[in-house]
Amino acid sequence: EWILHNDEFIQEDKLTISKEDRGYQFGDGIYEVIRVYGGDLYTAKEHIDRFYDSAEKVKIVVPYTKDVFHKLMYDLVEKNEINNGQVYVQITRGSYVRQHQFPADSTPVVVGYTKTVERPLELMRNGVRAKFIEDMRWLRCDIKSLNLLGNVMAKQEAHESGCFEAVLHRSEMITEGSSSNMYGIKENVLYTHPATNLILDGITRRTILELCAELGINVQQTPMTKDQALQMDEFFMSSTTAEIIPLIDIDGSKIGDGTRGALTEKLQKAFEARLNLGVQI
Ligand code: PLP
Repeated sequence: EWILHNDEFIQEDKLTISKEDRGYQFGDGIYEVIRVYGGDLYTAKEHIDRFYDSAEKVKIVVPYTKDVFHKLMYDLVEKNEINNGQVYVQITRGSYVRQHQFPADSTPVVVGYTKTVERPLELMRNGVRAKFIEDMRWLRCDIKSLNLLGNVMAKQEAHESGCFEAVLHRSEMITEGSSSNMYGIKENVLYTHPATNLILDGITRRTILELCAELGINVQQTPMTKDQALQMDEFFMSSTTAEIIPLIDIDGSKIGDGTRGALTEKLQKAFEARLNLGVQI
């Protein structure tokens, strides 16, 4: 398997990371996950733009142009012969003797690798259970930062309760999932948290909002309370790897009739139609 290290493709056993890499010590870096369908990068431009935006927000300079970066991602997928899968790519501020403030002259370190991942078709059809968990993350959730401890703790707690995802809330207001965005549907209106500093502006979320416009589903980008969420007709989550997965139960309360909702299914099918993979779901 080939790994991207800065601007070179190397074999995994040749990769070395410094003990003082700031990603390792401080989570001082950002990342991106890009989906691969049929050997092609999906919504590559959006992911690459977000990678550069996240980097800029934490004042890390990506050491090549977006075009060069795009080609590196493409070549990595091709070299590893990935058909359906994903690219994970991160950039850290590099290594330096441990100190909190930015080093004057560290060189950013990029690592990228691929993985085969099939579409989670069963989960997409049958839905999953979820759990409310207090959102204890920082106030810059718009940055796709390597600091994921708040997300990891929330997902673990959900997992220990037999749930697939955490529905995060700040006080009564639902923000997003531990690694997904969240949506409720009530009487043909879709509700989701606005793309503020409290959530990641998901690329899948953007596609879903476009599909709602095409399908005539009204959208209200206002946060739902936990009580409102439990009263929704339908509820679902979205992410690059999960696509659109129905939440059929939150905290032991059934959502709607406890099966995938009609509009959720419509959105899944419209999403799938954009992938040019034929009908699978
Ligand atoms: N919110 C969080 C916290 C995430 O980690 C992710 C990524 O998986 C998402 C939302 C969904 O974003 P995207 O659709 O770009 O994958």
